[in-house]
Amino acid sequence: MQRGDHPGLIMLRPVLHNNIWGGRKLGSEFGYELPDGPVGECWGISAHPHGDCVVDGGPYDGMRLSMLWDEHHELFEGAEGDRFPLLVKILDARDDLSIQVHPDDAYAMEHEGGSLGKHECWYVLGAHDRGHIIVGQRARSRAEFARMVEEGRWQDMENLIPIRPGDCFDIKPGTVHAILGGTLVLETQQSSDVTYRVYDYGRRQPDGSLRELHLQQAMDVIDYSVAPPASGEVAAPEVDGITRLMSCEYFEVLRVRVSPEAPVRLPQPHPFMCLSVVEGAGGHIATPAGSWEVSKGSHLVAPCGCGDLVLQGDMTLIGSHVPARA
Ligand code: ZN
Repeated sequence: MQRGDHPGLIMLRPVLHNNIWGGRKLGSEFGYELPDGPVGECWGISAHPHGDCVVDGGPYDGMRLSMLWDEHHELFEGAEGDRFPLLVKILDARDDLSIQVHPDDAYAMEHEGGSLGKHECWYVLGAHDRGHIIVGQRARSRAEFARMVEEGRWQDMENLIPIRPGDCFDIKPGTVHAILGGTLVLETQQSSDVTYRVYDYGRRQPDGSLRELHLQQAMDVIDYSVAPPASGEVAAPEVDGITRLMSCEYFEVLRVRVSPEAPVRLPQPHPFMCLSVVEGAGGHIATPAGSWEVSKGSHLVAPCGCGDLVLQGDMTLIGSHVPARA
């Protein structure tokens, strides 16, 4: 894409989802207009058919992200695949989410009609004083797992970890996990909506029904060989405002901290970069094509060839991009 006619940043309008475990904080803390009832998920950057974000302003105003991917692929030059590969969400868990696990690409391709698997990364935005989440399971074989489920020994099976804001977790496919009540999380993941529910605490939906469990599929995909982690503390150093939080074969996640005294220059050499403002009063992001005002709750894509980003103001952002090809 030529620098001269580059559109600059692409601002997105998030899609809000009702979930039985959700709350109202996505409205009170991020300023989103919420539908009635419990709202658990804000899909901030998504081209998934279950929540395809619409462009807000600029030359592509009103287009869905999936249409941009198909019709203006020059904005994502170098990114492979038949769909926008990442999905960025903010989750407000007023109550516990079900204990669940996701398949990898191979299993999802075979059993879920060509869907992607789901590797995900959690960045903790808010937690109770004694907040916890579940990452990993203690059963070391399918037989042991099945026995624990049959006997209802959930506390023996699940690996409970204390959390604080700023913690980060790498949730590989095959890892049992649950976000628990009182937690706000930004989730970066492959663009997939395949979840196998292991346990839902026996709770009922408004119409009295139970949500479906998928124990057989879950037991197929759980990786019993992985030792569960002990904490989500970030060890990576912050360099000029930028911290590399996590990387896997599908994406890399970074945190950018901007203060009035310390603007940040963020290079953008990737096919595209996702950015979400998660804390602070807000500010501006400038590229050679212009300057965009952002505030807590803003989600945007910095396309291919947009040049370095200069971030000013008082804010923390979480960014992600596909990894450099070997
Ligand atoms: Zn999950």
